[in-house]
Amino acid sequence: MAELYKNFIDGKWRAATSGATFENRNPANRDEVIGLFPASTAEDVDAAVQAAKQAFAAWRLVPAPKRGELLYRVGELLRQYKEDIARGMTREMGKILKETRGDVQEGIDTAFYVAGEGRRLFGETTPAELPNKFAMSVRTPIGVCALITPWNFPMAIPTWKMFPALLCGNTVVLKPAEDTPQTAQRLIEILIEAGIPSGVVNLVHGRGEDVGAALVRHPDVQLVSFTGSAAVGREIASVCGQNLKRVSLELGGKNAQIVMEDADLELAVEGALWGAFGTTGQRCTATSRLIVHRDVAKTVTDALVARAQKIRIGDGLDESVDMGPLINAAAREKVLRYIEIGKREGARLRSGGGVHDAGVCAKGYFFQPTIFDQVKPNMRIAQEEIFGPVLSIVEIQSFEEAVQVMNSTPYGLSSSIYTQDVARAFRAMRDIEAGITYINGPTIGAEVHLPFGGVKDTGNGHREAGTTVYDIFSEWKSIYVDYSGKLQKAQIDNN
Ligand code: NAD
Repeated sequence: MAELYKNFIDGKWRAATSGATFENRNPANRDEVIGLFPASTAEDVDAAVQAAKQAFAAWRLVPAPKRGELLYRVGELLRQYKEDIARGMTREMGKILKETRGDVQEGIDTAFYVAGEGRRLFGETTPAELPNKFAMSVRTPIGVCALITPWNFPMAIPTWKMFPALLCGNTVVLKPAEDTPQTAQRLIEILIEAGIPSGVVNLVHGRGEDVGAALVRHPDVQLVSFTGSAAVGREIASVCGQNLKRVSLELGGKNAQIVMEDADLELAVEGALWGAFGTTGQRCTATSRLIVHRDVAKTVTDALVARAQKIRIGDGLDESVDMGPLINAAAREKVLRYIEIGKREGARLRSGGGVHDAGVCAKGYFFQPTIFDQVKPNMRIAQEEIFGPVLSIVEIQSFEEAVQVMNSTPYGLSSSIYTQDVARAFRAMRDIEAGITYINGPTIGAEVHLPFGGVKDTGNGHREAGTTVYDIFSEWKSIYVDYSGKLQKAQIDNN
């Protein structure tokens, strides 16, 4: 009998009011049911938002250093349960244990980094232009925040949003992805153990079209923080636009690694393999294009193909496995569709290109690491996000052409260049249109104390992580204190 999970609303575990549930299955073995989760509706969303609204009245007045202290406890508990959470996450979404441990570690790093910010939530003091007047700016909380998250970083992304939101004095309703509800449940259990007051954090499971959409439309939700696909992001942005809600969007990518002819090729190949096939290519920062100088294209491509064929595919709980399954049947169909599109467009399939269903893999959504070469920059496989283990290799003849190809997609999340030439490296840092640029490193590997996000269709200009995340979850208030005892008029008195 599958375990039955609940929503967490106003400090209590509750079934969906409809009583309906949905199944969560292991993508490495479809026969394994992880649990039944509430298929919630707008009614449950309303209860959660009302709880968060009520809790806001007291939470916003808790001093920020005290809110931070609670997050220290959360960080300690995440550390304590790290291995267990990682194993559950691998069962739930497939990526290998090394990566799920890294995912939890990102939550731990975020907890400690954000907790420290409780004593550093600085505003500014500045001279006023009039005598006997004091001027300062302070950050104020916004209210109820809806956090809508994807499945590929089931712990890291919710914590990236939730911890800064709480530190700033907001209350939250988390709507995790349908494919990873259990990891979200673990996070909430830890918050409860750390002593989070009732109503400050609420969890509502269910479909994006039901729960996510109801949250976005709810009049008492002041801010929506969304990570997911560009298509859903656009919809959310338009609803928020109509209602003048604050909205921050972290969307897709079509990230590329440039390999120049002077690069350390061994290092570049290693970086491309990790960037393209880590997390089965299902990272928003995954390397899905390799832009390689023609003088070294053959060497690099041959080495990549040889190494890709050695990647061990299987259940991520097996420590000897390099690459787990895709998340679900729809993802596998999408990748297969793009393989056909690539072939039709005239790209050459050099490796993989099919499902991997040998032996114990028959019951999962496994896919071969796939490499296309002879890819033209305008082909769909070089323009659209596939979100699977597919690398498209584009040959170029100069640094200028490399940057032009790099910048030719609608997205701008992560980027990388391998070169030994310091002048080229600096030109790349300046000219590549992306939120993140790595020099001699793969497109993945963000650290939590630097801003994270992208340009163009990857988002709407916000940056999570770093200190920039506080600009998402707080508003500025400017305060003037006039102790002159008379009416003073700025600008006008100064004439
Ligand atoms: P998705 O857009 O399908 O779903 C994301 C979340 O939105 C889920 O919780 C889903 O239930 C919810 N949702 C779906 N429809 C909704 C609606 N109409 N209204 C409100 N919520 C709705 O994305 P996904 O498949 O879960 O994740 C993969 C995508 O996420 C990729 O495009 C990837 O690049 C992107 N991503 C971006 C970042 C980043 O930081 N830029 C990080 C990770 C993933």
